[in-house]
Amino acid sequence: MVVVIVAVVTGVLLYLRSLPSTQRVVRLRQFLANPPSHPEWIMRAGTRCEGAPFLFPTDGMIGFLWGDSFRPGHRHQGIDIFAGTEPGITPVFAAYDGYLTRLPEWKSSLIQRVPRDPLQPDRQIWLYYTHLADANGHSYIVDDFPPGTYEVFVPAGSLLGYQGNYSGDPHNPVGVHLHISIVKDDGKGKFLNELHIGNTLDPSPYFGLPLNAHTNSGPVLGCDRAP
Ligand SMILES: [Zn+2]
Repeated sequence: MVVVIVAVVTGVLLYLRSLPSTQRVVRLRQFLANPPSHPEWIMRAGTRCEGAPFLFPTDGMIGFLWGDSFRPGHRHQGIDIFAGTEPGITPVFAAYDGYLTRLPEWKSSLIQRVPRDPLQPDRQIWLYYTHLADANGHSYIVDDFPPGTYEVFVPAGSLLGYQGNYSGDPHNPVGVHLHISIVKDDGKGKFLNELHIGNTLDPSPYFGLPLNAHTNSGPVLGCDRAP
């Protein structure tokens, strides 16, 4: 009996630990229920926190962090920025200078090669932007970057597209947001699989914000505002 209770309690604790920070979920729900009532939770596109190399790429509330878990065994590889608007309204801009590629089959995603990591210049990194399409996969990426775009130089601050809710399943779209992640290079000039957190970098020092779920269980409100 005791063994069973211990097992159940352990299971519940493990499950709770696997969920994203409750504080962040509660706040995100509050925000999405009425975005205009929480302007102070929104970070603005183009903001660059002191000492950080990257521009904040879009307007919105930072809902989920690098390392948040949505199900057991899963770790979020990037950050999610929720506009609080309908799909196709809120612009997304390049966070840094780099060379943009859109694979022929990509409806909602772009990847930008940064030849010299500003924090570790001897390596190349990649910036991955996704959910730039509506629920049915109609792209919100600007016409300058059609499918098959390869290595087009794009300076920081360039308009890339608009936040959408594409998930791959039209019946189950995600909330309108931008997912952005920093992906490692394979050492031979190709990006690694973004879906594994081990292939991505903690975005905190690049944006000058506490974006690591392992060390921040609270919200992220702005450059100079403690959580
Ligand atoms: Zn995400």
